[in-house]
Amino acid sequence: VRPFLIVLGSLLVLSCISCRAGDKGGAGSEKLQIVTTTGMVADLARVIGGDYVEVEALMGAGVDPHLYKASPGDINKLSSADAVLYSGLHLEGKMADVLEQVGRRIPVLAVTESVPKDKLLTDQINPQYPDPHIWFDMSLWAETIQPVADFLKKELPEHADEIQANADEYKATMAALHEETLSEMKKVPEARRVLITAHDAFRYFGRAYGIEVLGIQGISTESEAGLKEINNLVDVIVKRGVKAVFVETSVSQKNIQALIEGAKQRGADVKIGGSLFSDAMGAEGTSEGTYPGMIRHNVSQIVGGLQ
Ligand SMILES: [Zn+2]
Repeated sequence: VRPFLIVLGSLLVLSCISCRAGDKGGAGSEKLQIVTTTGMVADLARVIGGDYVEVEALMGAGVDPHLYKASPGDINKLSSADAVLYSGLHLEGKMADVLEQVGRRIPVLAVTESVPKDKLLTDQINPQYPDPHIWFDMSLWAETIQPVADFLKKELPEHADEIQANADEYKATMAALHEETLSEMKKVPEARRVLITAHDAFRYFGRAYGIEVLGIQGISTESEAGLKEINNLVDVIVKRGVKAVFVETSVSQKNIQALIEGAKQRGADVKIGGSLFSDAMGAEGTSEGTYPGMIRHNVSQIVGGLQ
C-alpha cells in the first residue's frame, strides 16, 4: 500500500502544478474540472456549478458505492481534477484512504459534512456509524446544497453570484420535490405502506414519507443476508398481505428472488413491484440519470406497486 500511496502522492503534486494555473470558469478559459464519486453528488455539482463546471462521476449507473474501490484510472482522474466532491458518512467506505490522500493536494468536500448529526439515522448493523443514504429524504439532501455552493464559490469567486442563484433555484426544486413525494405517497393505503428492498437504503425515505422500510441485508451490501432474515420478511409479507417487493439497480436480485419464492411457498401472492434506484442513479442522458428523475421514478414504482 505504501509505495502505491507514494506514487499517488507524486502524481498529485505533478498534476496540481499544471491544473491550478489559470483562472477557472472565466470567459474563454477552462471550466472547473470536478470529479465526484456518486451520480447524486455529480448532480449537485452540475446544477449548482452550472456553466462553470465540468463534472464526472466515477460511479455510473448500477454501481454499488459501498463496495467500490478506486481503479488506477480513477486515481488519475481524481488527481488531475480541480476539485473532488463525495457523499461521505462512510458511503464510499473503500475509498476513504484515496479520498484522504487526494484531499491533501486539492480541495475535497464531503457534501454531507455539515448535515446536523441529530438528523441522521444510525447504521443498524454498525451503530457507531451513521446511515449514509440521506439523499432519499429531500429535506435532508437539500442541506447539502449550500455547502456545495460555498465550496464552488471559493473555487470560482468571479462567478459567486451565478452559483448562489443556481443553488437557490435548486433549493426550491428540492422543496417542491419533497412536497410532491409526500402527496404521492398518500395514494398508498396506510396498511400497505411497507417497502421491502434488497438493502437498507430507504430508511430516510421511510421516515420522511411515512412508509415502513424493511431491507433484507443490513445497510451495507457487504453483509450477507441470512436465511433467518429472509424468513422474518416472508412472515411480514404473509401477515400483512404485502403485494410487492422491490429490486435495486445496484444490488443483486438474488435475495429478493429468494424472498418471493419463500412467500409463494406459503401461499402469498407477491411480485416484483419494480426496480428502484438506490445508491446509483440511472444512465447519464436519461431522466433517471438526474436526481429529480431518479426520485420520481422510485416514487412512481413504489406507489404503483403497493397501491
Ligand atoms: Zn447503500
